[in-house]
Amino acid sequence: MELFTSNLPFWKGNLHMHTTASDGRLTPDEAIALYQAQGYHFVAITDHDTITLATHLRAGMLILSGIELAYELPAEELHLVGIGIPLGLEPKLEPRFGPQYAIDAIRAAGGRAIIAHPAWSLLTLATLSGLRDVTAAEIYNTMSTAPRNCLRADASSLLDTAAAHGHGLPLVAVDDAHFYDGEHCRSYIMVQSESLTQESLLCALDQQRFYASQGPRIYRLGVTRERIIIDCSPAASIIFYSNLSWVTGRCRMGDALTHSEYDLTAQQGETFVRCQIIDAQGRSAWTNPITLSAIQ
Ligand SMILES: [Zn+2]
Ligand SMILES: [Zn+2]
Repeated sequence: MELFTSNLPFWKGNLHMHTTASDGRLTPDEAIALYQAQGYHFVAITDHDTITLATHLRAGMLILSGIELAYELPAEELHLVGIGIPLGLEPKLEPRFGPQYAIDAIRAAGGRAIIAHPAWSLLTLATLSGLRDVTAAEIYNTMSTAPRNCLRADASSLLDTAAAHGHGLPLVAVDDAHFYDGEHCRSYIMVQSESLTQESLLCALDQQRFYASQGPRIYRLGVTRERIIIDCSPAASIIFYSNLSWVTGRCRMGDALTHSEYDLTAQQGETFVRCQIIDAQGRSAWTNPITLSAIQ
């Protein structure tokens, strides 16, 4: 089974960013122009508690509508990002209704919900596994690190714990840009879909035809009963993660690595595997977790 096909384009996009409609420093037009100039094909404008723009195409770039919602839980600050939703949905997304109500309302309106910065939020396994119909979680959130935050950008440990407990989620990387002075145009997703439309992109998200990145490219992700095969741009490390704590043959380190394979027959009890590629500059790409019971 090939998780990416050779004949469909990849589109580069950022699904989490703020503008002057909430606490961002740039107007929507300025922020969109900045991302377009850096080669992005789509962005979602996700201001706090307000849907600023309807989904539309602007000068060849797809702008997805969006919102970010916040929930104060005991010792956790859960944030949800909604994308692809109609203007005026805010009354159905009031925090007092709770996060599951918002996820259901976002989906009923044709959108998708993403769990924002789980590590920064100090989310627990119970909170993560208690939410249904979530499309993805942010494995990396550029805003959630220095110089403005402590180092909680990377949520991989918690998301692996959730996956090991049967609550694996697809993984996106986002900027969560507010200041546009260094945290923008850094972490993104590459989505493989037929066309640059909301319908096509959301369908590809549902089918997990995407990967998260800060630079490295994934050209092939093949899965058989025996192995996972990955082809990528030149990397310094290619590392496989699973629910098992100790497995040999997880890591390949070297100079300009462009291929690695992971043997699925070497150990019993693996339920999921995902791969991280790190280039010579320290930038990562992350595949979604592959559920091994789903492999034919
Ligand atoms: Zn947030
Ligand atoms: Zn945000």
